[in-house]
Amino acid sequence: MKMNSYFGKYGGQFVPETVMSALIELEKAYKKIVPTKKFQRELKELLSTYVGRPSPMYHAKRLSEHFGHNIYLKREDLNHTGAHKINNSIAQALLAKYMGKTKVLAETGAGQHGLATATAAALLGLECDVYMGAVDAARQALNVHKIELLGARVVRVEDGLKTLKEATTAAIQAWVNEIESRFYVIGSAVGPHPYPKIVRDFQSVIGKEAKAQLKKLSVKPDIVVACVGGGSNAIGIFSGFLDDKSVELIGVEAAGLGLETPYHAGTMSKGRDGIIHGMKTLVLQDENGCISPVHSISAGLDYPGVGPQHSHLKDIGRAKYEAVTDDECIEALKLLSRLEGIIPAIESSHALGLLPRLCKGLKKRSNIVVNVSGRGDKDMDTVMNYKKGTIYG
Ligand SMILES: *Cc1c(COP(=O)(O)O)cnc(C)c1O
Repeated sequence: MKMNSYFGKYGGQFVPETVMSALIELEKAYKKIVPTKKFQRELKELLSTYVGRPSPMYHAKRLSEHFGHNIYLKREDLNHTGAHKINNSIAQALLAKYMGKTKVLAETGAGQHGLATATAAALLGLECDVYMGAVDAARQALNVHKIELLGARVVRVEDGLKTLKEATTAAIQAWVNEIESRFYVIGSAVGPHPYPKIVRDFQSVIGKEAKAQLKKLSVKPDIVVACVGGGSNAIGIFSGFLDDKSVELIGVEAAGLGLETPYHAGTMSKGRDGIIHGMKTLVLQDENGCISPVHSISAGLDYPGVGPQHSHLKDIGRAKYEAVTDDECIEALKLLSRLEGIIPAIESSHALGLLPRLCKGLKKRSNIVVNVSGRGDKDMDTVMNYKKGTIYG
């Protein structure tokens, strides 16, 4: 049976004919290969011995004391390569290998997904091309060096603004040209069906572990919070709690300089239905339907669309979405560093940045789980040079 390509009214496959055949092949392979014992066993082995899973569920006592609520941190920052992205990259690269593909490709903005995919490709012996806007490649020199050291090729894209949007377009074109031998590893729960479901399923390991870990601690979660760029770490942890209506789910997007300014990435707050990268979803756009430029201190949250399942969860009211500014994010990053000795990624610091507002509004002492999607090593320059009111591209 064909999988439903929609979440409510969002999702679908808004792609040219040439891409359709590859998506059909991918869906077939996904349904046939991923449920097998062999695939599941090999993936589980890699996640435990290579990525370092399960990631800990940590009761942050000093942070809890500070806010007057019990705060638990799901430590995706402790994964190999420093974020949740590797869960998905390894699983997709493994699927590519089972499908008989010899090469993978990926798009990347800040380089984190490129790094995770180059890592997975090195591990599994696959050739790997990473498409990156030339401007991004110059800005993210450290990740470019890492990707090349891992044996992958960085393809610098010189079109348009030379950033993520152009890199994605070039990657799709390259994929279409070599559709027999290439697998396209998408980095978030976005794109045409079946990618949003595949990425959700591969990241759901976060939610499954979190649920089991809390149960073992005899903690009943009241609220689960995660940051939302394309939405993969959020949907990964949410998926463990979607069926339990007593758990409130909150996604946090980037408000940049403020939702009342033009400098933000508040897709859920300010977007309207539209089409971007092959899917129908909420999109930040002007009155003519042109996609708006986005601004955030965090490259990983700087996206004018969002995964279609999040648009749907908002639509039906199962999840709530809030926005946190650059300023609130930096304050949260400093607070966690000082109180717990954990330096979070600036993306993850958006989820943490909601805590002051969230905790103030709660009537009874609550159990709050925050997904710490990554570590902050990559962000030290940004944090050191941060000045209030800076406009990030
Ligand atoms: C890329 C990234 C994100 C944003 O991606 P999602 O798909 O929304 O999870 C969040 N946190 C970190 C650390 C990232 O690298």
